[in-house]
Amino acid sequence: MKSWSSEFQILRASGKLDQAHQILQDNISNLINEDYLAYGDACASIFAWDLIVALGDSTSRDARSYPLWIRYRYAQGRIRSVADLVIWPLDTLNEIDTIHPELRLIDCATDLNLTLGEERWAAASTAAATILELLETYSDQEYPFFSQIRSHSFLQIIPLAARHAVNPTTAALLREILSADILEPGVFEVATLYAWLFAPDESWDHRLQRAAAKADPFLHFVPSFLRCYLPNILALSSEDIQQIREIDEVLPGLRLPARFGLKRKYVSAPSIATSAGTTFSFTSISGASTISGNSHLIRLGSSLLLLDLGLNVNIPPAQAYQGIKANLLAALSDGKPDINRLHAILISHAHTDHIGLLPLLYRDSDLAMINTSAGSKPNIRIMANDPTRELAAVMLKDSANLHRRSAEPPFTEVDVTGVLRAIDPFPEDGQLDSFRDRGRIETWHAGHILGSQMLLLEHQDVRILFTGDINTVAQATVDPVLCPPGPIDVLIMEHTYGSESGHIQLSREEQESAFVQAVDRVLRRGGTIVVPAFAVGRAQEILCLLSEHAQNNADLFYEIYLDGLARSITAAYDYHIDETTLRYQAARKWLDRRLTVISTDDEREQFLESVQDRPSVIVASSGMLKTGSASHFYARSLAGDAANAIFLTGYMAEDSEAALIYSANKQDALDQLGIDVRCEVQHFHFTAHAPRLGLLNFVHELEPRTIILVHGDANRSQKDPASVYNILRNEGFDIHLGQESITATYRNGRLVIA
Ligand SMILES: [Zn+2]
Ligand SMILES: [Zn+2]
Repeated sequence: MKSWSSEFQILRASGKLDQAHQILQDNISNLINEDYLAYGDACASIFAWDLIVALGDSTSRDARSYPLWIRYRYAQGRIRSVADLVIWPLDTLNEIDTIHPELRLIDCATDLNLTLGEERWAAASTAAATILELLETYSDQEYPFFSQIRSHSFLQIIPLAARHAVNPTTAALLREILSADILEPGVFEVATLYAWLFAPDESWDHRLQRAAAKADPFLHFVPSFLRCYLPNILALSSEDIQQIREIDEVLPGLRLPARFGLKRKYVSAPSIATSAGTTFSFTSISGASTISGNSHLIRLGSSLLLLDLGLNVNIPPAQAYQGIKANLLAALSDGKPDINRLHAILISHAHTDHIGLLPLLYRDSDLAMINTSAGSKPNIRIMANDPTRELAAVMLKDSANLHRRSAEPPFTEVDVTGVLRAIDPFPEDGQLDSFRDRGRIETWHAGHILGSQMLLLEHQDVRILFTGDINTVAQATVDPVLCPPGPIDVLIMEHTYGSESGHIQLSREEQESAFVQAVDRVLRRGGTIVVPAFAVGRAQEILCLLSEHAQNNADLFYEIYLDGLARSITAAYDYHIDETTLRYQAARKWLDRRLTVISTDDEREQFLESVQDRPSVIVASSGMLKTGSASHFYARSLAGDAANAIFLTGYMAEDSEAALIYSANKQDALDQLGIDVRCEVQHFHFTAHAPRLGLLNFVHELEPRTIILVHGDANRSQKDPASVYNILRNEGFDIHLGQESITATYRNGRLVIA
């Protein structure tokens, strides 16, 4: 029996829109569930939205045709898209509220009205309407504008509009909108807009440079923008370099020539910290000298904050938790352990090695986390942004599910739901309740996976930047890390690829093209490819590459399938599509027509039958072919045929199933897993972490006074003369390799290890 959603997808994919629509109508109530990500129908609800849009331009502007879950998003106070509310007439919103008072759309609109002000509101409405018309007029795509509205905030529509605006009249109109002062644009939006407007015939980099030179009123933000968006500056021509030197003269803050190897010896600037006493200390609870299971305790003034609470996946969760708990209590205690002294847990992103122990903390009654009088919230505040919370929901519920069969599960779905409820977003004004004396928090785009953020903490005169995991290189799904402006006193930075040895140093582009070429080769010989991929980020990156390859090779028609945890994660990416790259958005939209999501055993069997006749690619988690996972099933089923291929796409542990299947001696796979590997097996080294040179550049830009390296191999870094650690130390940086349970105190502008 197929679920209604897969039936819906099949009808939709085969162009039977009327029937698909009927199914949707019959099942619309299934889309309401607030907790939709926990269910397999998440993809369907997202596709449903596209379908509704596809079904009629005449109705899609009418809010009544929006699926209910979209409106729930507003009801939850998550208005990110100004455009959506701006373009709906207030009486329409009122009307919806009459039917669904719980949505309170009018309240949302009123809030917006207050923020924008009466006049700005009117102007914004006009501008939004104008932009919509422009998009309608100039777009040659099928139904681009409404999907843009869905996925873009009002401000993000403008650059898109500008791109569509092929004639000077439109460009002039957009300039007018911009100068009408109805917007409070962010860095990205205005710089992009200027880039588009000023030199539409030139290359992207040139346009950015011109944008920097011409956007006088925005000089204050252009530097930080450019610093991050020219990550591949080393590849520029000498003519480019000349232009960049010119920019540097106008905007010395950029210090771009430093990136061309004009090395400067780091000179320690005087500390801005005026207080002589202790204002900051750092204690690693876990994961400072290894890559897994991250958690660090910092003290800022009188506040104690925990950065991440990750699981070391090599240790059973309950045991890992006991270790972390002991370290945490020891670090908190000045005599008597007291968890209540911890003010907040701040989460950088949703990978297991950063969130995996949250449900165990929630469950731990020893630590008196549960405030029984006030319900089931922990006393401690946990903060994460929306995408991270949603990815965490999918990941943690999946692990709870896996543990269900064990005799003593380390945590259950109840713990997961409990801890998820306790997660608040970061405060918009940056003020942390627990921070007295001008304590603030800001989050900065980390470029690692969807939702990944760096955390910038300020207390009195001290500024601390915790990178979480970062990437300085553009990935298909997320833009590279965005540097905050300095000065930074203490940088707590990951260095996964901090040493030179042991890593293949192909550039991202080289990896991508090697992968695509291999895909092309296997498909042309009629083989089917299994791509085991980590569910978060990697699977979506691969889908993007496949989408682009399939579009560029229309002669080679092949099916793309998705299975495993990656399905719900891809749905979460869809839900926050506006935070992914334009590249991914385009690929994802195209995939709507080509991607088949597999959810049931019947569908898996059907898939195996269908691949006999036509080449296909199946992307499935887990990335390391864990026994019992979807990818393992496909690898096992297809490995016997020499025409097929298994393309591994990232890190694999030494004793993993992936390593066995990849090993030169395929007898191992047969002996230990019972898999007879006759197909081609290749390993592509995709990563979401910054390369060594990227980390060095990042530090050179930030010029922090003190650096603590975490999330890397401390031993290897110490020995390798070309490691980030040794290079920066030789350049004169005050740099420390994080170790388990060290405490470091910041005094008079230097870090003193206790
Ligand atoms: Zn990560
Ligand atoms: Zn990590």
